[in-house]
Amino acid sequence: MTRLSAVKGDITKLEVDVIVNAAAPDLLGGGGVDGAIHRAAGPGLVAQCRTLGGCDTGDAKITGGYRLPAKAVIHTVGPIWHGGDHGEADLLASCYRKSLALAQQYDLKTIAFPAISCGVYGYPIGEAVDVAVTTIREHLEDSTLDEVILVAFNDEILSAYERGLAG
Ligand code: ADP
Repeated sequence: MTRLSAVKGDITKLEVDVIVNAAAPDLLGGGGVDGAIHRAAGPGLVAQCRTLGGCDTGDAKITGGYRLPAKAVIHTVGPIWHGGDHGEADLLASCYRKSLALAQQYDLKTIAFPAISCGVYGYPIGEAVDVAVTTIREHLEDSTLDEVILVAFNDEILSAYERGLAG
């Protein structure tokens, strides 16, 4: 049975098997959670990312965790919010599905997600939480994962996750 929970905190500090990065398509680091993960992991991470040839929106790629407590990082590129009728929900669902599939493929048992696309990419948090919770729950029906953690960086996001998990 896989646990699904929400916590408030800094994803770079979590001692899980893998953390997910809300990355930019070039995978070379940026602001927000991406910058925090690269700073905490150290220069080995960007060096490995340079070998990956970027990542399409909705896709995911895996690297080592370097100096992070997590063993690995899954880099996924969320959609930029353009009002909701440009395939944003399908692309965001794909980020969660591909990330969960990669974790399972590499036999990683505990995974933590940030609120993909909900920072500079502008995805409304309530709608993003619906996509995240629905997609994760679908995956968990047939999953070898032990735990999925939704990491909220502030109280607003935590409340949205708690509402989504209760629904
Ligand atoms: P995107 O470009 O996909 O919107 P951002 O990094 O701008 O990505 O934001 C994604 C989410 O990650 C936002 O909700 C932001 O508050 C959150 N975030 C930023 N830093 C951290 C961190 N260290 N741990 C967890 N979440 C974080």
